[in-house]
Amino acid sequence: MENPVPLETIVSLAKRRGFVFQSSEIYGGFSSTWDYGPLGVELKRNVKSAWWRANVQERDDVVGLDSAILMAPQVWQASGHLTNFTDPLVDCKQCKMRFRADQVDGPRCPNCGGELTEARNFNLMFKTFVGPVADEAAVAYLRPETAQGIFVNFLNVQGAMRRKLPFGIAQQGKSFRNEITPGNFIFRTREFEQMELEYFVKPGEDDVWFPRWRQARFDWYTRLGVRSDRLRLRDHEPSELAHYAKATSDIEYLFPMGWSELEGIANRTDFDLRRHMEASGKDLRYFDEEANTHLLPYVIEPAAGVDRATLVFLLDAYDEEVVAATGDTRVVLRLHPELAPVKVAILPLSKKEPLTQLAQAIHATVRKHWMTQYDQTGGAIGKRYRRQDEIGTPLCVTVDFASLDDHAVTIRERDSMAQIRVPIADLVPVLREKLGF
Ligand code: ATP
Repeated sequence: MENPVPLETIVSLAKRRGFVFQSSEIYGGFSSTWDYGPLGVELKRNVKSAWWRANVQERDDVVGLDSAILMAPQVWQASGHLTNFTDPLVDCKQCKMRFRADQVDGPRCPNCGGELTEARNFNLMFKTFVGPVADEAAVAYLRPETAQGIFVNFLNVQGAMRRKLPFGIAQQGKSFRNEITPGNFIFRTREFEQMELEYFVKPGEDDVWFPRWRQARFDWYTRLGVRSDRLRLRDHEPSELAHYAKATSDIEYLFPMGWSELEGIANRTDFDLRRHMEASGKDLRYFDEEANTHLLPYVIEPAAGVDRATLVFLLDAYDEEVVAATGDTRVVLRLHPELAPVKVAILPLSKKEPLTQLAQAIHATVRKHWMTQYDQTGGAIGKRYRRQDEIGTPLCVTVDFASLDDHAVTIRERDSMAQIRVPIADLVPVLREKLGF
């Protein structure tokens, strides 16, 4: 297996080509926060759409939801987050650096070797105040996971959509965690997006659905092109399990800093529904018509991070290749066409009329179907191909002087660099066939 690409290479490409910028950069940045640029926002939207398509659109048994970030504080009391959503924090008495105790080996500071304080629990939730008076009664929290918005809406969704078990509710959106040690670019930040699915099943069927979801989620990444030798499933030891989980498997990726979690699949049992039922006094049980009885469903939860998945797709797609014909090296992002921020680039060979007129007319047609870029900066066509390779554009359409006479253009493929000539009249169907959508 090749070595993973260094993180700095991706950070630098991401900045140079408009994928990800440091937040508040002109003020020196703001710790571990990042902004998605014009290409990053496309890539991230494509990641979210691919997830939504696989988990909602193409399934009969899952529906979507978009719940609020601010929720009644009782939600976090009931879910256990107010008491349990903590990390053990240690400080170095010498250099004052802070660490998660579970990420430090031994009693000494990994930075300077100094003595560490005793670990104390630090709650990861961001606190804020609702309304004009900043007192205890006005305290609210930014959600640290999207899942609770799903649990408290379980009966609303089930009733409105007349769902029978098993069925799932999917949600994407921002979550906030006051992480002690954020870092590694967009891998761990304090504000991030999640894609979570709570799949409700009859008690006893959880052991059937857990491995199914575990595999389905693994396959989602490989179907979108992630190399399977850089992915692995790791089952949690009983001692690692979160307070609500009966079983958990992580999908891990071989990041530049080593194997780390990309997504977690957990069997959350009926923990959350039960706690909300007790705390709210509302009966959240499901009525099973066949058995003529009320029951509290169990839940299997695949929980993924949008930013972390986006980072994986970037890392995994990055390639440097020596071009046989010229001997120079090209950088290619071998992104799956579904994920590529730009699907088709339209490149007129010259910036003179009447070539540009024809190229612009072609661009006007193609952009109705896919995200495109039009580049008539002139200069060598090879350079413009390289620029598209570097941002992962699967197809380039070159309009040359012959196009004016033969009414045909050249399609050039990113990965093989192969070129074919197609009549302009057939361009859209041929592009569709090559892209696959
Ligand atoms: P970790 O052990 O890395 O802190 P976790 O086990 O607490 O993660 P979950 O609560 O299972 O994470 O969240 C599900 C997914 O959300 C993670 O697999 C990850 O992709 C994403 N995620 C969690 N925390 C962050 C963060 N601080 N920044 C970016 N993504 C995150």
